[in-house]
Amino acid sequence: MGEEKVKEEALRIIGMFQVLPRLVVFDLDYTLWPFYCECRSKREMPSLYPHAKGVLYALKDKGIDIAVASRSPTANIANTFLDKLSIKSIFVTKEIFSSWTHKTDHFQSIHTRTGVPFNSMLFFDDEDRNIQAVSLMGVTSILVNNGVNLGALRQGLTKFSQNWNTSEKNKQRWQTKFSKKSTSSKNEQE
Ligand SMILES: [Mg+2]
Repeated sequence: MGEEKVKEEALRIIGMFQVLPRLVVFDLDYTLWPFYCECRSKREMPSLYPHAKGVLYALKDKGIDIAVASRSPTANIANTFLDKLSIKSIFVTKEIFSSWTHKTDHFQSIHTRTGVPFNSMLFFDDEDRNIQAVSLMGVTSILVNNGVNLGALRQGLTKFSQNWNTSEKNKQRWQTKFSKKSTSSKNEQE
């Protein structure tokens, strides 16, 4: 499938959902591209997973912000590659630094820079420990096996809507409980 066709299909998938994330965050190594960039030379010409560019541009077209969260120790190589792939400027922020935490500090930083709440974010990564740690912060997080593709996009948006609906229902339940309580205490006073 060509890049344009992938983008078209991604736009169709995004169009199926009523609730959408405000920000989608991508890991780099084995999520957007099929290698560890620390093992490559800056002089090489990198390539992305076949669906990656179409998915990124479809999200951008729909007004959804995109960002990078990578623990790569070679931010200079990563940035050179993003530049060579002509996608460096499409991200609202790029957090590329090695860290002992499983990307929780990357997400704190993304939140500080963008102001987007964790429950309005969707995250794609190929490492389970990152997925576990970041989902505990309230971010809908999807483990990818073979890079970001249309299937992962659909899965991510589905899980995002489910998480969103669950939290809305809980909010309503608390509000109902609270208003009942305040009504009954008023009655007691009368
Ligand atoms: Mg990775």
